[in-house]
Amino acid sequence: MTELLIEYLKNNPLGILIFAVTIVLLYFYFVDKERGVKLSKKYRNSIYEAQSKIYLNATKYLISGNRDMAIKEFINAVNLNRETIDTYFALGGLFRTNGEIDKAISIHRSLIARDNINESTRLHALRELAKDFDKGGFVDKAISSYKDILRVNRDDVDVLKSLCRVLEDTKDWEEALKYRLLLSKATNISQSQTISHILVQKAEECLAQKDLAQSEEVLEQSFRYSPSATAKILRLKISLAKGDLDKASYYFNEFLREDPAYLNFMFYSFDQSINQIGELFPKYTKSLEHLKNNFISQKESFDDSSSPSLVLSKIRLLESSDDYEGAFKVVNSWIEKNPDQKNMLRLERLKILLKLDKKEEVFNEAALLVDSLSHSLSRYFCRQCGHESDSVFWRCPQCYEWETIDFRWKV
Ligand SMILES: [Zn+2]
Repeated sequence: MTELLIEYLKNNPLGILIFAVTIVLLYFYFVDKERGVKLSKKYRNSIYEAQSKIYLNATKYLISGNRDMAIKEFINAVNLNRETIDTYFALGGLFRTNGEIDKAISIHRSLIARDNINESTRLHALRELAKDFDKGGFVDKAISSYKDILRVNRDDVDVLKSLCRVLEDTKDWEEALKYRLLLSKATNISQSQTISHILVQKAEECLAQKDLAQSEEVLEQSFRYSPSATAKILRLKISLAKGDLDKASYYFNEFLREDPAYLNFMFYSFDQSINQIGELFPKYTKSLEHLKNNFISQKESFDDSSSPSLVLSKIRLLESSDDYEGAFKVVNSWIEKNPDQKNMLRLERLKILLKLDKKEEVFNEAALLVDSLSHSLSRYFCRQCGHESDSVFWRCPQCYEWETIDFRWKV
């Protein structure tokens, strides 16, 4: 029975709207009555008149199946006061949350078009409309609505934040940068981390267009805002593209010291670029090989503070050149010092043992691992919000923070 009702309400949003406004009208009718204020006959008539008009128009449009027009006509028919306006905002928000974007848009557009509302209400309606477009994926319309609002109130922090998010989504880095700067002015909170990331993205684009000079210049700016790991990775890529091995190894060792946790993301990013950048800059691939070989041959003594990311990177590189014995040595020396049964490197060791056909050790290791396998095996997660993913993300798709990715080395 309740299911039927819910189903009915889902299919008849206009029904809810009519019902809600009727409640509001009746409420005021009775409130006035209770207060003992004698309603003038004229006022009472106007309420009835409005109501019957609503039903008439709504029925008319419902019959012809034009819900959009029905809502529009409906809003125009009612005498707007503070409370009915609030009801519309509530309903518009409800439609949007329900994913009925077209109806939310229709309500908010009709409100904006009314000439007998004050400017702050109109601005409120415009903000809601922008959110509708945003939620509905009408990106261009969302952007232009957000900008319209900022023309009236350029310090609207929520709108600035939303606009920044949409612009970063669309990878319009030039505009993203402009509004990020405005946001930092409006909030007085430093946005330098994010600005650095945006500039790195821009520099990356320049590199992909083979504009090395421009790429370096933009990257330089990015460092001035914040030396993020992605900026350092790009700087390394540029050195590799130029075939400048000295600089590459200098920056690499610096990275090893400062951001060891991001090491396997760095190699991942290098490999991702092999097709595109390797094609534009013939020296890239060879320099990368050189860098990898240097890293593999570096002798490491692992201790408690060694990043598992570093160990993992080394193992991956050795595996990719079919050196499973070498990988086995590296993983063993780390596990000796970090015998925690739950760490992901034990899984790596199992893989290597399988490759090396060491059957007895495979059985022992597998028994331990199966025991400890308790939750999800998504490879990466966001430190900020916990978002999980199997693919690398520099900007979290859930909380939109930059460089919060970490990899799961505990299973
Ligand atoms: Zn996140």
